[in-house]
Amino acid sequence: MGKALLISGHGKNYDGTYDPGAGSIFGQEADYTRELVSMVYQNFGKTANVEVYDQGKNCYSYSKAGQVPDYGAYGVVLEIHFNAKEKKDEAGDGRFTGIGAYVHPDNSGGRAIAEKIVDAVVGLGFGRWQITSSTGLLNLNQAQRAGTKYLLLETAFIDDGDDMQWYKANKAKVAKIIAQVIGKEIGSSVEADTEYLPGIYKIHVKDLNIRSGPDLGSQITGSITDQGTYHITEISGSWGRLKSGAGWINCSTRYCTRITDADGAGTEYDTKAFEVRVEISDLNIRKGPGTSYEKNGICPAGVYQIVETKAAEGYTWGRLKSGAGWIALEYAKRV
Ligand SMILES: [Zn+2]
Repeated sequence: MGKALLISGHGKNYDGTYDPGAGSIFGQEADYTRELVSMVYQNFGKTANVEVYDQGKNCYSYSKAGQVPDYGAYGVVLEIHFNAKEKKDEAGDGRFTGIGAYVHPDNSGGRAIAEKIVDAVVGLGFGRWQITSSTGLLNLNQAQRAGTKYLLLETAFIDDGDDMQWYKANKAKVAKIIAQVIGKEIGSSVEADTEYLPGIYKIHVKDLNIRSGPDLGSQITGSITDQGTYHITEISGSWGRLKSGAGWINCSTRYCTRITDADGAGTEYDTKAFEVRVEISDLNIRKGPGTSYEKNGICPAGVYQIVETKAAEGYTWGRLKSGAGWIALEYAKRV
């Protein structure tokens, strides 16, 4: 039981300079560590005893300057890094270098957690690097002195093309596994998979970043500070595009709650009505504009009035005037 602390390796130093960590054609370590910590964190429910070390800071540099986290307040501390090879293999030679960790030789609790995470990620099909005992890492030693279970995860090799191709395709699963292992350790459950849908979202945090694209690597273009309700018109993973055009927000339940379908808000669609002819006999009616919405019967062949349209999931959806729901207009002809 207890609390867990997640630390993203590298970042902004105490003296204001920036430590990007290792780098390669795939990007900078400090960006990958922040993305993964955020993804791990988002797997936990609202009440989980998990904290994220300030992502605006390089914990190592601040600790060196005397600002050491209160490690004793945590049962588990996980610090995330990405490793670098002596000789880059960015093109990929068909072999993983893999996932590993550093633990203090006397930190059997940290080692046990590292083994669980590494075993589980290797079980997904990734390579195994090694779990190394070390007494030469500042944060590791300070956490050890505080009596906390600590591990420094070397998630993948940032300059190994095989590692990074695999990691990028599987990072959501990696994040989930890490959250599950940490969650078990502190007695906090991991939320079930959430399916995100367009609609109206109520923000419940005081400051939510808006980004130019649907991922943490995209530039921050603003923030939402009014805890208001916002219309999301498109979903990518857990990210939602703001109708205003301001950008994307993370729709995780940690930050906001979906309160209604977009229909509830009224005027967001093209409202020019038109008629279509349905000629096939098995066209599904959906409760909303997308195949992810529940079916609401079959639309028999015939002519129908469409009062709104919306593009989603590869189709253009038309809302039936009857109120029965939405049909994919690719299966109908405009008359
Ligand atoms: Zn590192």
